[in-house]
Amino acid sequence: MSWKANVRRVEPYIPGEQPGQKGIIKLNTNENPYPPPTAVTEAICRIRPEEYRLYPDPDAGALRQALAAYHGLGKGQVFVGVGSDDVLALAFLTFFQSGKPVFFPDITYSFYDVWANLYGICYETKPLREDFTIDPADYNGGSGGILFPNPNAPTGLLMELGEVEKIIRANPDVVVIVDEAYIDFGGEKESALSLLDGYDNLLVVRTFSKSRSLAGLRIGYALGSEALIGCLQDVKFSFNSYTMNLPSLRAGVASIQEDVYFRETLEKVIDTREWTKKELKKLGFECTDSRSNFLFARHKQIPAAELFEGLKKAGIYVRYFNRPRIDEYLRISIGTQEEMQALISCLQSRISGQN
Ligand SMILES: *Cc1c(COP(=O)(O)O)cnc(C)c1O
Repeated sequence: MSWKANVRRVEPYIPGEQPGQKGIIKLNTNENPYPPPTAVTEAICRIRPEEYRLYPDPDAGALRQALAAYHGLGKGQVFVGVGSDDVLALAFLTFFQSGKPVFFPDITYSFYDVWANLYGICYETKPLREDFTIDPADYNGGSGGILFPNPNAPTGLLMELGEVEKIIRANPDVVVIVDEAYIDFGGEKESALSLLDGYDNLLVVRTFSKSRSLAGLRIGYALGSEALIGCLQDVKFSFNSYTMNLPSLRAGVASIQEDVYFRETLEKVIDTREWTKKELKKLGFECTDSRSNFLFARHKQIPAAELFEGLKKAGIYVRYFNRPRIDEYLRISIGTQEEMQALISCLQSRISGQN
């Protein structure tokens, strides 16, 4: 007899490495290479010691209000959580209860199937087309819920708003979640936010981790109809009332107020992305048309696994997924211009060394 037969066993999500050594170039988890604005760290410093005695605001009112104002919505349309991972995990628990399979792409954020398995929610993956685009016709009803990132990860491909709307319109009986973790890097025009007025089954999920340089504070949010957000709030309050800690709540508000710095940082990342893409092409890589803060690149001759190991030895960490259809690709987060120059030089010497 053993307790082992009586516990929940799951296969966990494997996050990208967070190596401790100094001097490495970290391009493996899509963090922002630029620091958050000083207003963010100042907001945390201003917290008085006695404020830490108290539980944080369970309603996260100030942050929800700031996000609501920023997006031109009501506070009741905003849900916040400990990174969008927390928001998405609660959304799975809240919205995917029909018993029918949840649909998401076969190549996508690799946490989706982990949550489905954890909660015992059945799912069906829909193969991306040969060019890695999502076919909206695959999502024409029959599901217990739908979810996809836009832009998708790890391909970086952005779906047009018209296609996104087709999927939402075809599925009024279930919740459709659009995970917009990377939308700020040039995809705003295709954001599903403009559809919120017309569809009360739409949930748009966003994060402060990438575009707002705050992965370390864990802030994510969802926007949707008051009815949807109300359901999420009820589940959250049945799970943990105080998900968001005080520094994250304060920092989140400060981040939202620093729009000029935010836009400057995004511009820099986008410029560096386009520069890196050009340089990679010269070295014999093919890249998808990424509208995110990473590139998805395949070399025409050299296997990705080999490049991945070689870069790692040189202290440059990128991401490699040893999975069908994408095992020839590297996912390379966009760092500073200097970091990307170092990446290109390193690849240059490896590639010319091979010929
Ligand atoms: C990074 C990422 C997330 C999670 O971000 P958090 O740090 O938990 O906010 C969610 N979805 C996608 C597609 C991501 O790439």
